[in-house]
Amino acid sequence: PTPRLPIVAGNWKMNLNHFEAILLVQKLAASLNEKQLTDVEVVVVPPFTDLRSVQTAIEGDKLLLKFGAQDISRHKSGAYTGEISGAMLAKLGVSYVLAGHSERREYHDEDDALVNAKVKAAFANDITPILCVGEGLVTREEGTHVAHCTHQTLLGLEGLTPEQVKQTVVAYEPVWAIGTGKTATPDDAQEVCKAIRVAITEKYGAEVGETVRIQYGGSVKAANIAAIMAQPDIDGVLVGGASLEAEEFASIVRFKE
Ligand code: PEP
Repeated sequence: PTPRLPIVAGNWKMNLNHFEAILLVQKLAASLNEKQLTDVEVVVVPPFTDLRSVQTAIEGDKLLLKFGAQDISRHKSGAYTGEISGAMLAKLGVSYVLAGHSERREYHDEDDALVNAKVKAAFANDITPILCVGEGLVTREEGTHVAHCTHQTLLGLEGLTPEQVKQTVVAYEPVWAIGTGKTATPDDAQEVCKAIRVAITEKYGAEVGETVRIQYGGSVKAANIAAIMAQPDIDGVLVGGASLEAEEFASIVRFKE
């Protein structure tokens, strides 16, 4: 099988205005050389209001960075005030979209059915979803985290074709590790990422399981990236806080060096 291309994505969350966004993109592009940006797929995920500026900076300078959105409407168009459609994102050149980030699940009541609809809305517009899954602290302490995460993954992928599942990026993000400075140990992260791959393999076949890329997310920084990326079933990371600083994020991208 062809090796899986590592993917490092930076989720800016609700930070940076469109001027600051351009500056960060330019700093990143200046810190990373062509090889580093070809050996690893690098995606920035700004707020909606920055997307047009980020697109201009990236496409105008033919930068090797990709960009994504943090959310997508399940609806195509119409009377959904405040929502942003997949078609709008596709028109801006968006390659990826987060679906079911734990902050959306927690603060905006997104359930697995809605997350699944968002994954489908992404594919309907040729945007690759990054399906986020992960257990809270109580589930981790009860010891049912593996089943919780594989279940969330399969519900998020429900109804996709095997070809679509292959393209999807799954991000395992234990909720207790997001923005807390607490990282899962590499072994704990590997345990869940492997289980997700096994569950996908059992349902969609070996080729899909070997191809699908699985990220870890939760307080990833330059200091812990190498140990995380050394795990066989971890193909990349989803980075929050550390993606807002160009040098820190660039160091994460250079995890091989
Ligand atoms: C995230 O938002 O997906 C995330 C992992 O955040 P942080 O890196 O800040 O924990």
